[in-house]
Amino acid sequence: MAIRIDGKAVAEKVRAKVAFEVAELKKQGVTPGLAVVIVGDDPASRTYVNNKKKACAQVGIYSEEYALPAATSQDELMELVAKLNVKKDIHGILVQSPLPNGLDEKAVVEAIHPDKDVDAFHPSNVGRIMIGNYHFLPCTPAGVIELLRSENIEIAGKNCVVIGRSNIVGKPMAMLLLHNNGTVTICHSKTKNLKEICRNADILVAAVGKPKFVTADMVKRGAAVIDVGMDRDENGKLCGDVDYENVEKVASYITPVPGGVGPMTIAMLLQNTVTAAKSQNWLK
Ligand code: NAP
Repeated sequence: MAIRIDGKAVAEKVRAKVAFEVAELKKQGVTPGLAVVIVGDDPASRTYVNNKKKACAQVGIYSEEYALPAATSQDELMELVAKLNVKKDIHGILVQSPLPNGLDEKAVVEAIHPDKDVDAFHPSNVGRIMIGNYHFLPCTPAGVIELLRSENIEIAGKNCVVIGRSNIVGKPMAMLLLHNNGTVTICHSKTKNLKEICRNADILVAAVGKPKFVTADMVKRGAAVIDVGMDRDENGKLCGDVDYENVEKVASYITPVPGGVGPMTIAMLLQNTVTAAKSQNWLK
């Protein structure tokens, strides 16, 4: 039976470290500040934003919410980002995705100053991740690496398979595993022999967005299986991309959903906000 990696506990440790760093910064007269922008009334986005604000408050990070109506124009949103880019008490800017139809998310991400881009979605930060010279790591993949480290799971020289190639999870996940000297394969919807490729993985990361997609017959005995998915099962209950019940019988390590990667994403966002506050001398 696999060891269940407790994302809540690991995230708690990251938060405690962040709280300590925030307290140290406050002694130097700097309070890290995060602006969270939400456009429209998507209920899931509202929950994410509330959780992020609550997490900020718990570690002493100052946060501001900008809740804009769904009818907000591209120009209005760009103006807000421009204002936040030079706002001295704000070190990180997060625009909650998805934006309502008609708004150009790519343009908004590109308008955020790279030093304040705590999601690490700006092309300049994405490029930095590619060459391994980065300020910020994207929160979810960085959280996965922390989870592997928490159990001393060796990445170097291991076969790592990432299912999913999105810009926010799959691609940066593969790059971080590569920086950690893993031998990395990225799979996607056009991949042939997915099962065989997955069965070769020592570390298998699922970021597909399909409930219980990874079944036990796709997993090598003794593999570490990390489930990034946040899906709904046939009864509407939150579940991951991995068929946990059966895969845990084959794997050596496994992350649950909820309580695995999810809590790490917010913890890494807090960490990035502190990193941003430390580096923004140009604001003075
Ligand atoms: P996405 O943009 O929809 O990407 C899904 C990826 O899965 C795509 O690359 C797609 O391939 C691939 N895929 C789909 N069907 C496949 C199949 N049959 N075989 C192999 N690959 C297949 O999703 P995402 O934004 O990366 O998110 C993935 C999951 O992670 C979602 O459940 C999301 O909710 C969750 N998530 C969780 C967190 C967290 O904090 N825990 C954060 C972000 C996302 P193509 O590229 O060929 O279409």
